[in-house]
Amino acid sequence: MYYKQYGDTDMKVSAIGLGTMRYDEEDIKAGRLEKCAQIPLYAFEKGINYWDTAPFYCEDKSEIVTGIALSQVDRSKVYLTSKTNLGTIGDQHPTKDMFRRRLETSLDRLRTDYIDFYHMWCMLSIESWEKHMERIYEFFEDAKKEGLIRNIVFSSHMQGNEIETVVNTGKFKGMLIGYNALNYRFRQSGIKAAHEKGMGVVVMNPLGGGMIPRNPESFSYLTEGTGLTVPQAALRFVASHKEITITLAGCTTKEHVDDAVKAVEGLTEKTAEEIVKEYEDKGVSFNNLCTGCDYCKGCPKDIPVSKLMDAYNQKILTGQHEAIEDRLSNHWDIPASKAADCIACKKCEKACTQHLPIIERLKEIAG
Ligand code: SF4
Ligand code: SF4
Repeated sequence: MYYKQYGDTDMKVSAIGLGTMRYDEEDIKAGRLEKCAQIPLYAFEKGINYWDTAPFYCEDKSEIVTGIALSQVDRSKVYLTSKTNLGTIGDQHPTKDMFRRRLETSLDRLRTDYIDFYHMWCMLSIESWEKHMERIYEFFEDAKKEGLIRNIVFSSHMQGNEIETVVNTGKFKGMLIGYNALNYRFRQSGIKAAHEKGMGVVVMNPLGGGMIPRNPESFSYLTEGTGLTVPQAALRFVASHKEITITLAGCTTKEHVDDAVKAVEGLTEKTAEEIVKEYEDKGVSFNNLCTGCDYCKGCPKDIPVSKLMDAYNQKILTGQHEAIEDRLSNHWDIPASKAADCIACKKCEKACTQHLPIIERLKEIAG
């Protein structure tokens, strides 16, 4: 296993982290939790020492399964995470006791008395993040003082520039963000800012929600000269970034663990800039895909053009119109009707580095 330093700490973490949201569905339904726990145990055997979990994953059983495994290994050799937010606590104005009860539930399920990285979970926008800072950040600090959590981190679906804002507050030891060969331009400024600040950067969704393995031809360029499969090469693409500490791989089977381990064998780290240049030099073209560069920002009608175009990417890649709506609601929390506000001023199209027919796509999104 390839190990990296977590930000400016002395923690040595595996370049691959175990994502625990993919325990076998049938085993979960049938209550075969000991069997599911074989996955983290196997990952541990293979040197994966960062286990990422949360309430609600796997029908709310992920923490329990992960706890079963954790109780069978040396606790001090695993870096464990969990997550919380206003929605998880179940109240928009929670008290310290409510926060504490949520945390204690996670600790009980995980069979431990501390969590290494506790996430302020799923910050979809700056507004949402500000609300969380105001209402629960101090409870994170209290839990840290009591030793129940060791590091305060956040997870986010925000864009690079918004992530920079959060990073620059200096309130977090690390962050978890979605980053992959499909959306990397959206997030580069964020990962660079976090890295420079000495934060750990953990990446979820390295396979683009399954989009990359489902479209192997579009992403075959990642495998060139590697001898890896497309999913392995997509993991390696992310893990090879100097700015990225850990790449999470969701594993259902031991083969998935083996695949992920193989993806980082003999890893060479490069900066995000070097990686982009390398692919551009190979002639990789994103054709009609939005690359997330955000040069189109500044719409007079406040339309988040790059986010809507990212959603449109999903249609191009899956061939399904419904993929747009799914992406907008599940990832960006934006109603498709926002696209109808466009007054066709063409400002964004003139700025678009990909020369995309944005106005036409917005019409299609608006329906
Ligand atoms: S064309 Fe539409 S989306 Fe683009 S900047 Fe003008 S109003 Fe905004
Ligand atoms: S400028 Fe074009 S490619 Fe870049 S984010 Fe905007 S729509 Fe996408």
